[in-house]
Amino acid sequence: MQKHEFKAEIAEMLDLVVNSLYSKKEIFLRELVSNASDAIDKAKFASLTDKTIDLGHGDWKIEIAVDKTAKTLMVSDNGIGMNLEELERNLGTIASSGTKAFRKALKEKEGSDLPELIGQFGVGFYAAFMVADKVRVISKKRGTDEAFMWESDMTGGYSTGSSQREGFGTSVMIHLKNEYEEYLDEWRIRELVKKYSDFISYPINYRKVDIPADEKEEDRKRREESEAKPLNTMTALWKRAKKDVKDEEYAEFYKHLTHDWEDPFETIVFSGEGQVEFKALLFIPKKATMELYMPNQKRGLSLYVRNVFIGDDIEMLLPSYLRFVKGVVDSSDLPLNVSREMLQDDAIIAKIKSAVTAKILSTLETLKKDEKKFNEFWAAFGTVLKEGVCVDYSNAERIKKLLKWPTARNDSGKGVFLEDYVKDMGSEQKDIYYLLSEREDDARKAPQLEAARKHGCDVLLFCDPVDEYLAEQLREFDGKKFVDIARGDVSFGSEAEQKAEKDANEKASAEMKGFLEAMKSELGEKVSDVRVSTRLTDSPCCLVAKENALSPSMIRMMKAMKNDVPEEKRILELNASHPLVKKVSEMKGEELSDAVTLLYDSALIAEGSPVTDGARFTKLLSALMLK
Ligand code: ADP
Repeated sequence: MQKHEFKAEIAEMLDLVVNSLYSKKEIFLRELVSNASDAIDKAKFASLTDKTIDLGHGDWKIEIAVDKTAKTLMVSDNGIGMNLEELERNLGTIASSGTKAFRKALKEKEGSDLPELIGQFGVGFYAAFMVADKVRVISKKRGTDEAFMWESDMTGGYSTGSSQREGFGTSVMIHLKNEYEEYLDEWRIRELVKKYSDFISYPINYRKVDIPADEKEEDRKRREESEAKPLNTMTALWKRAKKDVKDEEYAEFYKHLTHDWEDPFETIVFSGEGQVEFKALLFIPKKATMELYMPNQKRGLSLYVRNVFIGDDIEMLLPSYLRFVKGVVDSSDLPLNVSREMLQDDAIIAKIKSAVTAKILSTLETLKKDEKKFNEFWAAFGTVLKEGVCVDYSNAERIKKLLKWPTARNDSGKGVFLEDYVKDMGSEQKDIYYLLSEREDDARKAPQLEAARKHGCDVLLFCDPVDEYLAEQLREFDGKKFVDIARGDVSFGSEAEQKAEKDANEKASAEMKGFLEAMKSELGEKVSDVRVSTRLTDSPCCLVAKENALSPSMIRMMKAMKNDVPEEKRILELNASHPLVKKVSEMKGEELSDAVTLLYDSALIAEGSPVTDGARFTKLLSALMLK
């Protein structure tokens, strides 16, 4: 036997788990059964692809054996098993990132249900210590012929050593603390399995260990009969009609699948018929996790073929922009011995993916009719869904209808659908206007919106980082073009109004010709041009992009590809009727030069950009204030 200390973070976590004042200690059984089921899944899958693993019998089962006299409960499986190294690695350490996340979540959720968090961070096994003062694991890995033991009373670290076990798999035996003897009662165990683990696809049997020597014949018979029947119904939930399944059953399955501690936001049950036959049980979670935005996160759905588990996180079943969806697909059209590599370009998988995509989109379309619910969904996953426009051309039009943005007029925080934007367009407005900005607050104050506002045109505010890419992909909606309001020439109002404005603009430009040129030479390399604006009513000036300018995202991409990208200079537009502009136009020499710098910097500040030379700006501003 060898003694080991727990890693510091495990000791800390165990302390938290055990000392938590939590009513639902009962989930320890769910965690152990879940691990047993996973272990059988792994063995089963290994046998499909690796013929060198000696499978033994295929009589998969989980057993809960109870000894009331010794106060022990043992969960055994004949799954994949663990060797010595795996026992130490899996049960003696936790990936410290997981523990860190766990601790962080704990801090955030102070005062709330702690063990609800346990499953989520892969510390499920340790839940046993909520009710037990001693845990012993005996395991024999498939394909080996030596068994090992892992044992801990939690306080003094853990011990490992050689052991004996008949057959492959793992047994976890826990010795219950006095106050938790209720978990030795058969009815209590039946109740817990029913509640949390009914869908587990292997039989979970109950066995009484401490049989009295003088057991009566009829008692023995009754016991053996009841022990022969599994505690769970084992019906795969996705095979059952939705009306026959309780919401709680779906919720428990969802939690088993995802380690989420909350119920799902939406449950989708459907089957594919015709070209490919499959059944799917999908869930939309309530909240987004950080993982959604990590490049190497696990995504995809679990795949079963005729009830046999093939693998989880099968990416090929789900487009990336729906990666927040979790669930299971079971198809009878695939061969049992498929490998992940084969799935890559499998025609059946591709068909399932497109059916799954269509079903999720239609679910979201239905959800859209319930404003409150859709907003909840949107707050969690809207940003991810938007990516769809850029990657799924065949569904782009459907996806566009599900997207919302804040607008210059609507600051409710809920956003506006494109359909509603178009409905509200005046008869004179031809295009859909948008403004790119890093922050919604800045966007709302942007001078570029002024003329649009004056003419009663609303403007979509694209302030999500992904909006910049979207702006290039959206192109059209309902036959209307998307137009960047801070780019090229824009004009508003009726044709007559536009004509009048154009004339006024030309007149002002002619009158200010000398000033515009002086300004341009003063600003030099900073701008490509200085001209009279049609966008402004209240502000003196603003910066706009040239019609064919590369977008900032394009520039970043080209820079990333090490291309030599020329700086994209913008145009400074002036409000010819603004008193400040008139005043500056009368200035000469150094006074003019200082005022021009201040004007240009104020245009940068107005859109939320940093000024080019902060020191000079402050100096000029102080001088101005002293005057
Ligand atoms: P999780 O199951 O979330 O990964 P646990 O703390 O419950 O976290 O288990 C840690 C690891 O120990 C598992 O990932 C698995 O590799 C291993 N393990 C636990 N129980 C068993 C079992 N019955 N058979 C085989 N391996 C197991």
